[in-house]
Amino acid sequence: MLRWSINLFRIFGIQLAVHASFLLLIAYYAWLGWQAGRLPGLLWSVGLILLFFGCVVLHELGHSLIAMRYGVRVPRILLMPIGGMAEFDRIPRQSSAELLITLAGPAVNFFIAALLLPFFRQDLLGDQPLAAYSAAELGAQLLLANLIMGTFNLLPVFPMDGGRILRALLAMKLDYVRATFWAASIGKTLALLFALLAGLYYQHYLMAVLFVFIYTAADAEYRMVLQREQESRYWAEMARRVVAPETVKPPQPPLIIHGPN
Ligand SMILES: [Zn+2]
Repeated sequence: MLRWSINLFRIFGIQLAVHASFLLLIAYYAWLGWQAGRLPGLLWSVGLILLFFGCVVLHELGHSLIAMRYGVRVPRILLMPIGGMAEFDRIPRQSSAELLITLAGPAVNFFIAALLLPFFRQDLLGDQPLAAYSAAELGAQLLLANLIMGTFNLLPVFPMDGGRILRALLAMKLDYVRATFWAASIGKTLALLFALLAGLYYQHYLMAVLFVFIYTAADAEYRMVLQREQESRYWAEMARRVVAPETVKPPQPPLIIHGPN
């Protein structure tokens, strides 16, 4: 699925790519714009969605540039209709590094919002509706989009940035796997609550499906960390046996790490 992508250009040595389904999103917004206001509506709608995803790229660049300072390689930033994804070759286990890398994304959104605020404060506070297709409307839309993007990403739920921030904070006290277990458990509980709230109370079914998807992603994150941990312990044990065969003890039962019950 992730291979169906189109490479655009490189920025700070990182390949920017869009998933093929992204083109469908542009087509959808072009159609919405055309319905609302023919050609000017189409240009406005497509321009707005491209600027919005420009902010998504800046958010991902925020993560990436800080990660690169910690020696992480970032081969690609991929844009999908649901958002952006920076691909890292590894995630530093040092909690302070993970914390800074993760905070950098939402910080970029709040920074953009803060830059825009002085220009559009008057328009936002005024009781007059903003003129259609005006710079004021454009700025207000981008300001709002960045505030929502920054805030939504801070929800303490994997795979959102907030989930990673929570894990990094927990990992300052607990070991990494246990910190991931608790961060994922808190995230899964919240995702279920949000899904129920969205579906049953607000009857916003798309949002409910999104939170169910987030629930599965949180579960997958914990399983992935657990599996990596088991693999690295296995290889460490193998290396120890090869390097110091005389110290080999009788075979141990396979290591299985259970989360606290
Ligand atoms: Zn992020």
